[in-house]
Amino acid sequence: MNCFQQSSSKDIRCLEFFSGIGGLHYAFILSETGGKVLASFDINLVANSVYKHNFGKDPITKAIDSLTVEDIEKYKANCWLMSPPCQPYTRGGKSLDEKDQRAKGLLHLIDILPKLSDSPNYIFLENVLNFEKSKCREKLINQLCLTNYEITECLLTPLQFGIPNDRLRYYLMARKRTNTCELNDVILPDEYLKNVEINKTWPLPIMLKKDYHQEQNHLESSEEDVFNIPSLSTYLEELNEEEIKNYFVPEKYILKSYNFKFDIVLPTDHKCSCFTKSYGSHHIYSSGSLIQTKNLEFTNYNFENPSSLLNLKLRFFTPEEVARLHTFPLKFQSSITQGRMVQRSCNNLLKSNYNGPYLDFPENISIIQKYRLLGNSLNCFVVSELLRYILFL
Ligand code: SAH
Repeated sequence: MNCFQQSSSKDIRCLEFFSGIGGLHYAFILSETGGKVLASFDINLVANSVYKHNFGKDPITKAIDSLTVEDIEKYKANCWLMSPPCQPYTRGGKSLDEKDQRAKGLLHLIDILPKLSDSPNYIFLENVLNFEKSKCREKLINQLCLTNYEITECLLTPLQFGIPNDRLRYYLMARKRTNTCELNDVILPDEYLKNVEINKTWPLPIMLKKDYHQEQNHLESSEEDVFNIPSLSTYLEELNEEEIKNYFVPEKYILKSYNFKFDIVLPTDHKCSCFTKSYGSHHIYSSGSLIQTKNLEFTNYNFENPSSLLNLKLRFFTPEEVARLHTFPLKFQSSITQGRMVQRSCNNLLKSNYNGPYLDFPENISIIQKYRLLGNSLNCFVVSELLRYILFL
């Protein structure tokens, strides 16, 4: 007996909460599930202007925590995609968890779920590491168990998908069970929370039982045997002398970073660290990697003597490069990059017949605003794989 409420593949109708620049929307399109995003919700007007520019539709600016049952029900959506703010679960954001004002939107959606006459068949949530230990997650799990959802949780990084960017993120996928489902399939929240193991490998163990291999043999490898991750150079733009000047890390940022071991990478490396929303600012420690552009043979960095790092001519990744690493569909990817990318796991993304919207920024968006928006966003390819192989399967 099939225990899940299933919608035919063309009939997936999503609401996208906390939409930002639409990372979830791109991922949904890339998952090739069919269906559509009926409405998106975000209060950030800059992010919304980028969203409108690319998707041609204004996100709804009413705060998510003030949406009513009617506001949501009127769409007759059967899928929720959400990526709520991560600050409540980060040290930088003071780890206030459910007491943080920025958690209100998510808590409100959790609250509203059982009040809907027809709750969504599918729910997807993306967040940061530590969300899995939060009270907010506990509340979400409680509600999902009580409203009869089957839940899959995982912590994954794009490195596991062949992308040279480390961005460990928490993902939750929930599918509503049918009322006819046998009772012993239903798990009580306490039991779930006590026994659950969050998946940390890709493909997920549950996928190994399914037909996944036949379709996706490029993902068969285990964690150690990470398939050939291409070098960062594959993702770098060819910048001329004028262009590159915009991206050199100002010397004063480096000089005042005494003893901060910020992350320096070479174009030949196969990994860079997670880009956060403060990337590109004076916060050069732990906001994302810097690329060494000169004296590439010198890698014995002395962070106690920051002036010794000046002749490495460190630069920031450009927003275009960050967007490439986050696997957004981009219009002006050079054909050589496309050629190489097809060979890695992102063939899905760059199928020659991709005819969805691309990520592009309106002209009035500054470099620093682009970094902020991209740092807040997500890896579209990773999410598209989770949607395709876990949520909608
Ligand atoms: N996944 C998105 C970014 C999510 S970041 C992307 O791909 O870009 C979280 C987003 O939630 C931010 O854009 C922020 O403006 C929005 N947000 C935070 N609280 C909100 C609320 N109460 N109502 C609506 N949007 C909110």
